[in-house]
Amino acid sequence: MSSAPVTILRAFLDVQKSRPRPQRRIRGKHSARIRLFTLETGSCEGCAMEMMALKGSAFPLEGSGFQFVHHPEDADWLLVTGSVTRSSASALAAAWDAMPAGRSLIAVGDCAYNGGRWGANYATLGGIHALSRVYKTIPGCPPSPSAILQALGDLVEESSTGSHASSASRRRRQ
Ligand code: SF4
Repeated sequence: MSSAPVTILRAFLDVQKSRPRPQRRIRGKHSARIRLFTLETGSCEGCAMEMMALKGSAFPLEGSGFQFVHHPEDADWLLVTGSVTRSSASALAAAWDAMPAGRSLIAVGDCAYNGGRWGANYATLGGIHALSRVYKTIPGCPPSPSAILQALGDLVEESSTGSHASSASRRRRQ
């Protein structure tokens, strides 16, 4: 019998598979910003700290077409840091469920992608790679704020050129 967190994330996986494709957004002078919600799901919090740094004035986040929001209901993209502990699984599912259609899931850091150095064990589920279709992965332990910003910009470019599906497939095969 599956544990409650695993059951929740299996449902999460099912939703991911059937979700609509993200709406294409092209950044430009008059285009809307892409709204980001971050969720730390259990780790050393190194990636979460880099995300906090990215929110600081040293990085041109808003000028690059992004905006952090405080509630998943207002977000376009969900940025996950951490290896997804069993106790955080329900928070992850709740955040995802609260987001409007067109949402996307992005693993920030190695732990969020595949569990990183923690892997899967009695306390963690091993990242979201094995649990759901990851739209985008930003590798690193941790990725720097500038690397995260660059990767987010690349994701927009991929979306605008329609190359997102092929690159996501490539990542899934790795
Ligand atoms: S990827 Fe590295 S820095 Fe990020 S949460 Fe995991 S161990 Fe910490």
